[in-house]
Amino acid sequence: MLLGAHMSVSGGLHKAFERGKTVGCQTIQIFTKNASQWKAKPLAGADIAAWQKAVTAHDGITPVITHDSYLINLASPVEESWEKSLGAFKEEIERNRLLGIPYLVTHAGAHMSSGEEAGLTRIARAVNRVHNEIVEETGNPPGTMILFETTAGQGSSLGYKFEHWGRLLEQLDHPEWAGICFDTCHVFASGYDMRTAETYDATMSEFDRYIGLQNLRAFHINDSKQGLGSRVDRHEAIGKGQLGIEPFRFLVNDARFASTPMVLETPKGTDDTEDLLNLATLRGLLKGAEA
Ligand SMILES: [Zn+2]
Ligand SMILES: [Zn+2]
Repeated sequence: MLLGAHMSVSGGLHKAFERGKTVGCQTIQIFTKNASQWKAKPLAGADIAAWQKAVTAHDGITPVITHDSYLINLASPVEESWEKSLGAFKEEIERNRLLGIPYLVTHAGAHMSSGEEAGLTRIARAVNRVHNEIVEETGNPPGTMILFETTAGQGSSLGYKFEHWGRLLEQLDHPEWAGICFDTCHVFASGYDMRTAETYDATMSEFDRYIGLQNLRAFHINDSKQGLGSRVDRHEAIGKGQLGIEPFRFLVNDARFASTPMVLETPKGTDDTEDLLNLATLRGLLKGAEA
């Protein structure tokens, strides 16, 4: 299994590797800029050099995943905020390209009462435009894959049903440059059960039916504070929430996901001790781990 956690980039992007190594990550997720601000300082040559040095020094931590800004709403029906989101999203892809990072996770958008179909079409238009612009400008593919995250369905967020991202992928000019990030807390909160072997299998079959398991490129592994179908997005430590320990046992022992990165986004303090504990819990669930 490829297990890891979201890591702070305080003090420089490259610092995330050292933090990840300390708690035993085999993969990490980071923000490449402040996730609650629009603006970001462009990456300097020195930032990129420090990053590349850290990549080489920590070759046991791969792949790296980034998560885009929370402000971006590619589904917005309001032209001005849609354009602003599109610009910021393109910048996120550009930063990944400069750093050589293969995945960018996005919540993508909320339709804001314009309706789900309209929202999905807006996202598809935004992604197609960004992709086509990058190809025109650089003569190359974007070099990073967009991963649409499954959501809890809070507010008018899209992606709380597998059908949403399935229909979105169908509208992309370059579906090969996109995939899905499966967040266990969100999927459960949006109404898909995983607490028994039967419901776990049924949920994965449902994902396969509407999206295709080959498009599942990463997991966010979080327990949920709130119950099945609550549509509330509150993460909890592994085994300490409404999901409990069993879904994680099914997941880490599912051979179909043996090389799919799985990162924690569970609550923690400043020293990452909780990540260490949650990763130990997950590794303890692996078949044969007790032997
Ligand atoms: Zn997540
Ligand atoms: Zn969440």
